[in-house]
Amino acid sequence: MRDLLTATEKKVERLAIMGGTFDPIHYGHLVTAEAVRYQFQINKVLFVPTGHPPHKPFFDVSHTEHRYLMTVLATVTNPYFDVSRVEIDRKGITYTIDTIQHLKQVYGEETELYFITGADAIHQILSWKDPEELLRLCTFVAVTRPGYHKNSLLKRIEELREQYGSKIHFLEVPSLAISSSDIRKRVEASRPIKYLLPETVENYILKFGLYQQTQD
Ligand code: NAP
Repeated sequence: MRDLLTATEKKVERLAIMGGTFDPIHYGHLVTAEAVRYQFQINKVLFVPTGHPPHKPFFDVSHTEHRYLMTVLATVTNPYFDVSRVEIDRKGITYTIDTIQHLKQVYGEETELYFITGADAIHQILSWKDPEELLRLCTFVAVTRPGYHKNSLLKRIEELREQYGSKIHFLEVPSLAISSSDIRKRVEASRPIKYLLPETVENYILKFGLYQQTQD
């Protein structure tokens, strides 16, 4: 739907893709996206909730429509933020390379793509589909929570740069002390989640009874 872009939207110089399960989306994600937007002079941040991620059993993750709608509710007030259905509408397992290639087609060759994700993903990236092509097509921004042992990550980033000419930035985001898994556990234990995520998302979780019984 949102991929039917207007001519103006097509002139995006730098597009950041915020990939994640967003189960649920929280202030850590939103602050991260805004920090990356500012730091890298990004014109638009596109939140891309995962469909069926390759690395997770399907039953462990909330329904795609719930995760999509919570992401829309959370991002609607930021004019630089948008949400894509590209992965949740794709049948079968969703791979990041397919999304990146799709967005390259939609936005054109001139648009510089950034992919924002959790730092641990960088350690596993060579196990993703078409990693070399992925590293060629976009700049990665690896974000971490406070207290993350960054030495091995920085070493990995350097190895990938030497081997594949990849561009990977590292960013520590204090507000990522908030985590989706902690929010799910809090809901299950009837503990408060207020101020960890937008009130609209909190109300959505309560209305649909999400996370009453988490698996982890
Ligand atoms: P995850 O395993 O759910 O998350 C791993 C850790 O990173 C969690 O602590 C998570 O925190 C954090 N995180 C994830 N995305 C983040 C983001 N955008 N900003 C800040 N923190 C983030 O990882 P995931 O969300 O499923 O996957 C992340 C992205 O990598 C997705 O776009 C997914 O499609 C992609 N991926 C692709 C492949 C492939 O193509 N083969 C394989 C694996 C992952 P929270 O739980 O608080 O979010």
